[in-house]
Amino acid sequence: MEELIKNEFGMSKGVKISFAAGLTIFFFISIFVYYSLYNNIEEIVTAQTINSITNISELNVDAVSRAIANRKTLLEAFAINLERKQSKDYDAILREMETYRTTYDFYSMGILDEDMIFSLTTGEKIDVSELVQFQNAWRNEFYISDSYMPADGGEKRVNLFSYPVRYGNECQYRVIATYLSKNLTERMNIRVVNGKGYYYILDTDGDVAIYPRYYKDENYLGLMEYVNDTPEIIPDETGNRYFQYNGENYYAHFEQLDINDWYLMTCVKETDMFADADKITYGVFVGMGLLWLMIVGAMFFVLMLVYQFQKKMQRAVFYDSFLKIGNGEMLSVFFQKIPKEKFPKMAFTIFDIDKFKEFNYVHGEETGDNLLKYIVHVFRDELPDDYLFRYRADNFVVLIVCEDKTEFIQKMEKVLQRFSDDIDAGLIQSFDISAGVRRMRDGDSLQRIMSDALLAKGTIKGIQVQQYAFYDENFRAKKMNFMEMESDFSRALKNKEFHVYYQPKFDMETGKIVGAEALARWIKCDGTIVYPGEFIPCFEASRQIIMLDEAMLEAVCRQMKEMEADGLNVKKVSVNLSRVHLKHSGILQKIERIVTESGVNPGMISFEITESALYEDSIPLRHIVDFLHRLGCKVDMDDYGIGVSGPNALASNQFDVIKLDKSFIDGIGNRRIESVIRSTIFLSKDLGIDILAEGVEEKYQADSLLKWGCTLAQGYYYSPPVPEEQYREMLKKES
Ligand code: C2E
Ligand code: CA
Ligand code: CA
Repeated sequence: MEELIKNEFGMSKGVKISFAAGLTIFFFISIFVYYSLYNNIEEIVTAQTINSITNISELNVDAVSRAIANRKTLLEAFAINLERKQSKDYDAILREMETYRTTYDFYSMGILDEDMIFSLTTGEKIDVSELVQFQNAWRNEFYISDSYMPADGGEKRVNLFSYPVRYGNECQYRVIATYLSKNLTERMNIRVVNGKGYYYILDTDGDVAIYPRYYKDENYLGLMEYVNDTPEIIPDETGNRYFQYNGENYYAHFEQLDINDWYLMTCVKETDMFADADKITYGVFVGMGLLWLMIVGAMFFVLMLVYQFQKKMQRAVFYDSFLKIGNGEMLSVFFQKIPKEKFPKMAFTIFDIDKFKEFNYVHGEETGDNLLKYIVHVFRDELPDDYLFRYRADNFVVLIVCEDKTEFIQKMEKVLQRFSDDIDAGLIQSFDISAGVRRMRDGDSLQRIMSDALLAKGTIKGIQVQQYAFYDENFRAKKMNFMEMESDFSRALKNKEFHVYYQPKFDMETGKIVGAEALARWIKCDGTIVYPGEFIPCFEASRQIIMLDEAMLEAVCRQMKEMEADGLNVKKVSVNLSRVHLKHSGILQKIERIVTESGVNPGMISFEITESALYEDSIPLRHIVDFLHRLGCKVDMDDYGIGVSGPNALASNQFDVIKLDKSFIDGIGNRRIESVIRSTIFLSKDLGIDILAEGVEEKYQADSLLKWGCTLAQGYYYSPPVPEEQYREMLKKES
């Protein structure tokens, strides 16, 4: 059933699908957003990087140009000074030059003459006619060479600066100064792209013009070689280039210097360039991932809340919150869901607890609640695969899966056996159930099945020996019969078809009649006798019993008066009062009128009120008993022992006689019942109430009762109910 209920009331397939679809769409949107963001971010970061490379390149070009200009100015100043002096003392010039060199940190200084002899401040004279940079120096006005390795420089690289010195218009010689290349590039900012970029100052052929400090770096050298081999990557003017070297993509920015044909090339691996972009996009990705998880989590949370709320609502509607099983609503839904082919394999069983009201009254409501819980518990234990519902109050419906009647009985007996075992073991208060069973058939409506099962149950209600009854078609006939009787009643009453039969009550010690009970018999015009067991339930249901009891009392009073007139020794007669009266005490005025008008001694009339009437709260029983007593009549408690009123009820209501129910008398021989009888006899004596045994059929019963002190009896052993004539005979015989 859980499965079915889940399908019916669980999160519907539609909800699940739309939830999954929602999540998927949400997922793809997230991916899309992420992707476009990623691209954007990459673009932005790349543009930013390129921008910053360009900016830094410009700054670096500035720095290098300034360093060069600075050297140029120094050399120019020195040359101009020489021109002004027009000195030809080369030794003095070289000495002055040496001071200047050390002051301004030139690597070397000297004079180049037209014979291409380079006289250094160190006193050395070198023939440089073969050296390109010197040739260029001689040819040009101001000149700065590419980096080269000076003869004594070891690993060092220098740039050569030269200026002509003219005396008049004629160039006398040239001042030459070399300067360490790394010092020219020293001011350059090399921190671009986290220090991963390289700078080259190149000429258009791809030769390095100024070596930086880090020129021995392998990658630098490799790149330098590459650029040297492929000078075509060098643009004609400032611009960018992408190229591949050593399997890696490079980005290069070229910035033209105003010196020679030099460029500043700023070069960086693309992967390094994107490292920042990747870092940022990674951050964005993680952030979005977290956001995504949060949103999905929130969606789940909300959905769970909705689901739980839904479930709660469904529980409220379909579940019995107290017993935690399905209720009548659930039964209806469940019934609709059972596949029709399973119908013949199910027995619809409705049951309730006999006299549950009394049970509650006597043991308290808490015990009553526990009994309900206990029943659910037992069904779960014993018939776990069958379907139990609380239909309403103490009415349960259980759909028992069974192939045939035998299997049903097996299952039902298992439950009943468990009940009686637990009762015997004192685990639960004694109780009985009455169940009506109706096998389900394809095409039956729930209402039909239910009403049939109820009918079946009605046939055994209150019959302790039988706890379940199967529906059969006769029940319907019986029901028809009820309806027939109901419609016949008025006519039968008018036709005087209801007769009073008298069942004498005896004093067992003396064997004498002490009174009689008036019992109704319906003798139809064709002579058939209908017994109260058949018509009383019908008339009680239709409330026609009120008129019948009235008629019976009238007849009894009249007949007593007649017997008295005929000189008979009239005995006390008891008349039954249906519990139906007790619901509205209008009968009391009628009783008063009938008794007084008849002229019968009220003390000779007693009214039997059934014990079970005591539990109906609405009944002003006390009021009724007092009224009848004031009238002078007696009141007997009928069927004592069927109910569960116990001694309390005896003490608190002023009954004159207790009629011990036949079921007790039948139980004589059973030790436990005997002890109950004995204590009841003792109790009644103690309370000063007479006690009468009903339904005495055997001598041993009479003997036992006498032995225990109960002297009054009514039963077939002494006499069955007899017609008025016969009763008169019995009275006559006694006197
Ligand atoms: P009750 O008041 O308990 O009446 C006793 C019933 O037990 C009578 O059944 C009587 O025939 C039966 N009985 C007496 N002695 C024995 C015995 O030794 N063995 C057996 N097996 N039965 C015995 P009856 O007359 O069929 O009445 C059945 C019930 O119908 C009565 O039970 C009473 O509750 C009700 N009843 C009968 N007449 C009237 C009436 O006029 N008005 C009302 N309201 N109820 C009536
Ligand atoms: Ca009675
Ligand atoms: Ca009785």
